[in-house]
Amino acid sequence: ASNFTEVPLAPPDAILNLSTLYKADTFVRKVDLGVGAYRDNNGKPWVLPVVRKAETIVFEAQPEHEYLPIGGNKSFTEAASKLLLGSDSRALQDNRVVSFQTISGTGANFLGATFLHRFYPKGTKVLLSNPTWANHKNIFTSAGFEIQDYCYYNPKTLGLDLDGMLTSLRNAPSRSIVVLHACAHNPTGVDPTPEQWKEIANVMQEKNHFPFFDCAYQGFASGDLDRDAFAIRYFVERGFELSIAQSFAKNLGLYGERVGCYHVVAHSAQLAQHVQSQVARASRAIISNPPLYGARIADTVLNSPELLAEWKEHLIAMSGRIMAMRSELRDQLVQLGTPGNWDHIVNQIGMFSFTGLNSNQVEVMKNKHHIYMTSNGRISMAGLSTGNVEYVAQAIDDVVR
Ligand code: PLP
Repeated sequence: ASNFTEVPLAPPDAILNLSTLYKADTFVRKVDLGVGAYRDNNGKPWVLPVVRKAETIVFEAQPEHEYLPIGGNKSFTEAASKLLLGSDSRALQDNRVVSFQTISGTGANFLGATFLHRFYPKGTKVLLSNPTWANHKNIFTSAGFEIQDYCYYNPKTLGLDLDGMLTSLRNAPSRSIVVLHACAHNPTGVDPTPEQWKEIANVMQEKNHFPFFDCAYQGFASGDLDRDAFAIRYFVERGFELSIAQSFAKNLGLYGERVGCYHVVAHSAQLAQHVQSQVARASRAIISNPPLYGARIADTVLNSPELLAEWKEHLIAMSGRIMAMRSELRDQLVQLGTPGNWDHIVNQIGMFSFTGLNSNQVEVMKNKHHIYMTSNGRISMAGLSTGNVEYVAQAIDDVVR
């Protein structure tokens, strides 16, 4: 008899399933608004020119292929921590920041979850925004945590439900771990304002909650690396100990190279050393040593003033194209007289927009118009282009009437 007779078939991954359906569709004007990766105005992946330059530099240096230390490429992880915390960060000067290279943002979330689970009291809750990136649930439960939702998105205003969020945080058990999207919230595109972050920090401090920032879109939201790091820097200034899962998938376009870091800011250099030793144990069990190639590219870009300046231009180009598509889509809908208010499309930020379309409307978008998006009405703004935005607006107009 097989050992696997008790293994049930897992449900298909909603997003991967969507891209299979899209690929199989032979309709010429089909549109993929499911994909969570940047596309240029021709719908093609964009290899950042600065990454190409860094690849040449790395290649010509003919580096060897020895193991990295457990913590990874130090000059990369240090530059990555400065990018998040600011190069003048007190926490960095005080040597109380621990930084580990990880398998992109996913690995950073999982390493953090694994480490924290070993040292938080049994029964600690991890609070996730409702809704959130689907993998958060998977990652934090896999690490052994119980999870609980906090209010975040208000479907009526298509914006932040701040009161609901503060109430959820107040009602949660003290010393819960709260996963916060640093910027460009996935899937809603709704971020708190600086004022709202202050109120969130107040309640988090009252309740001794632990902030776990997930930062997968720094520079990709506003086009400005510092501006997108506001929330993290603000919480560090307020004196929180916290974690950050950092991804370079989107902002450097290094998706498949899996470049990321897990950082912990502790209250003292001594505590940071203890944390460092324990994160190392956890990382040893998961990957032993992180991969070389992507980190070498990121290291080269982050530590060269010229390449860094060029990268910042690329971030403005990518976020700018996305913002232009937001305006274009909103304007087209207004011109068509599509019922409803569409300002949320321009008010939301980052890769995604929550359109407000319901799952029935999403089905019609797919079956009648060959436009693919997740059933919650989320669209990837990067899938829009000057060539298809009018077609998409007409389809939205059709399904909401
Ligand atoms: N966190 C959020 C909120 C994301 O949207 C993503 C990617 O879609 C990730 C983390 C991690 O992505 P990766 O593992 O590719 O860095």
